Amino acid sequence: MKADIVTIFPDFFRGPLDHGITRRACEMGLATIEVHDLRQFTHDRHRTVDDRPFGGGEGMVLKPEPLFECLESLDLASRQARIDDRVASHARQSVILLSAQGERFSQKVASELAALERIVLICGRYEGVDERVADFLADRELSIGDYVLSGGELAAAVVIEAVTRLLPGAVGNDASTRQESFTAHAETADADGPDSTCGSGGLLDYPHYTRPAAFRGMVVPEVLINGNHQEIRRWRRKQALQKTLRNRPDLFDGAALSEEDKKCLAEIKEDVVE
Ligand code: SAH
Repeated sequence: MKADIVTIFPDFFRGPLDHGITRRACEMGLATIEVHDLRQFTHDRHRTVDDRPFGGGEGMVLKPEPLFECLESLDLASRQARIDDRVASHARQSVILLSAQGERFSQKVASELAALERIVLICGRYEGVDERVADFLADRELSIGDYVLSGGELAAAVVIEAVTRLLPGAVGNDASTRQESFTAHAETADADGPDSTCGSGGLLDYPHYTRPAAFRGMVVPEVLINGNHQEIRRWRRKQALQKTLRNRPDLFDGAALSEEDKKCLAEIKEDVVE
């Protein structure tokens, strides 16, 4: 995958992209990330990228011209072609404007993006970006959550990290990214061993423990030590259901629950009432 980031703070990305899985994905050739300095696409002495808002009001707005020029230098398919491809379910490229007003970024969107050949991430600043960028240049607006940041850079780093770790081969064991929180794909109960039997199915992940088994009087649940794979699987699923019920009950709306899950959930709710 090729990712292009358009920003007025190119140095911002030195830290976030130079560590861990993102760095490894680049070193392995799975991802290529290029950061573009928006100011290189200005033509005045002061390299101006912003201007006052039409209609008055607070702050400054990122001007359209440098953004359009920058994107035109990237040799992308036209906006209409990108949108048509997405509608026809064979999207290859996406130009994304990071925006608090965007569609909410999620694990589902991350896997959609991980299947593309190229993503371009436009980072806004100040009061935001001239709306013509959303209307005529980007094919998608994404928000990383219901809060306002000062710029799109952190949001772009979040998107890149969530997407690169889904590229096949980026994480040592591909199964581990399939089992995590929010991942819709649930593993079957009769697969071998506990490692491959605990997909979250769109819920939160189950709790993880490592050595030592006892630490300052805090002990690891006995079931994880006894080596009974079926019991471990059942315990993990119950924990995932319990935690989702407690912290994110909204996730049950879209989750595929088995009969066993429903029974377990009823037991959990009974325990809470007692
Ligand atoms: N006036 C805007 C906020 C602008 S913040 C509003 O009220 O919606 C400046 C820039 O930060 C935005 O252009 C966007 O690129 C980025 N940004 C802020 N919050 C964000 C969020 N939740 N997700 C993604 N990008 C965000």
